[in-house]
Amino acid sequence: MTLALGCIADDYTGASDLANMLTRCGLRTVQTIGVPDDALKLQDVDAVVVSLKSRSIEASKAVARSREADKWLRARGASHVLFKICSTFDSTDAGNIGPVTDALRADSGDAMVLVTPAFPGTGRTVYQGNLFVGSVPLNESLLKDHPLNPMQDSNLVRVLARQSGSKVGLVDLATVGKGPDAIRARLTELAKQGIGAAIIDSVFDPELETIGEVALGHRLSVGASGMGYGLARGLIASGRVKAASAVSGERAIGGPVACLAGSCSQATLSQIAQAEKSMPVLHLDPEKILGSGDEVERALGWAHEYFAKGPVLIASSSTPDQVAALQAKYGRDAAGHAIEQTMAAISEGLVASGVRRLVVAGGETSGAVVDRLGIPAFLVGPEIAAGVPVLRCVGWSKGDAVLALKSGNFGGPDFFNDAIRLMP
Ligand code: ADP
Repeated sequence: MTLALGCIADDYTGASDLANMLTRCGLRTVQTIGVPDDALKLQDVDAVVVSLKSRSIEASKAVARSREADKWLRARGASHVLFKICSTFDSTDAGNIGPVTDALRADSGDAMVLVTPAFPGTGRTVYQGNLFVGSVPLNESLLKDHPLNPMQDSNLVRVLARQSGSKVGLVDLATVGKGPDAIRARLTELAKQGIGAAIIDSVFDPELETIGEVALGHRLSVGASGMGYGLARGLIASGRVKAASAVSGERAIGGPVACLAGSCSQATLSQIAQAEKSMPVLHLDPEKILGSGDEVERALGWAHEYFAKGPVLIASSSTPDQVAALQAKYGRDAAGHAIEQTMAAISEGLVASGVRRLVVAGGETSGAVVDRLGIPAFLVGPEIAAGVPVLRCVGWSKGDAVLALKSGNFGGPDFFNDAIRLMP
């Protein structure tokens, strides 16, 4: 196997978003959880997205993990690696994008790396190096008050320069508009000035294709799913990858199917209410989870009674008032962690009783479940709802299985049934 594209994502849900985008463009894509063992066997894939949790950890650890992922991908033939960051940059002056970019660029041997979180179709545009979220500059958007990574400067040339050991330049929109040769000429000019990274403007989606084409001439790029789109389109346009339709014709998995909901978002609450019309739903008691009651055993016993009849849904989700009351009593982190671990333990029990089709609602909840189950990688399959693909386990010790993992607000009103329909 020779990878056409390697990707290193700094968080799990960002990794899924990118893997889904690459699949939609026609790249057969596997998403791994962490850097895989050398033993992981991959066949016929064009792209691998290694999911790390490196966005908000100590820079030295983020650098070490990213370099390890890069080495793994390069060893499998990836001549180009995308370091996938958030489309809202999510990285303060002490953030990891600069240090990781510096290290990966040094390893790649490139003199210059193109950087852009732009994805105009989803409202992330970059103009004169300034990132806009919808109609407002980044530092006036909700991201200015982000609990972990408050973004108080919208000028990414400045933000990246403060994090990076190298000088940072700009390829502006006027240059992008003139096409690939003009961009390359500008990059040569910047490199002559000792600049090692360039923020590149993009205001309309077609520019991503131009940027992707130029980026493919380098060994490394840094960007969000928009850059992933540009690279994927470039790989297909150049004939380096033959576009495939989403994985199809795979063997059906069969057996019991279970859904777990740990998200308390409005969308998930409505989806649970809708699911109650067609499947048995068990509402866990959060007080018991945080107290002494054994909700894991109760849930597993309950599920066993219904498995033979069809899908089941187990939910911890509560309304915002109830969530706030629980958090006030036990603390937000303690409450969240205890419930996530309960969901993870339930998923483990479900798998032990033969479940190989699992739908999980909630970003953190999904992370806890996937980590607990020790799934090394997923082949990305057909899309259930925007940004939520069917994931087929690869190299899992328990064999073949399919999962759907959605973050809170994703999915239509009948999401649970929509997912099950695509998971035969
Ligand atoms: P989302 O994708 O909607 O943000 P997450 O799973 O990422 O969903 O986050 C939901 C958080 O809420 C998790 O930490 C989960 O354990 C916690 N949680 C789930 N149910 C409850 C509840 N009833 N009360 C308080 N917190 C809850």
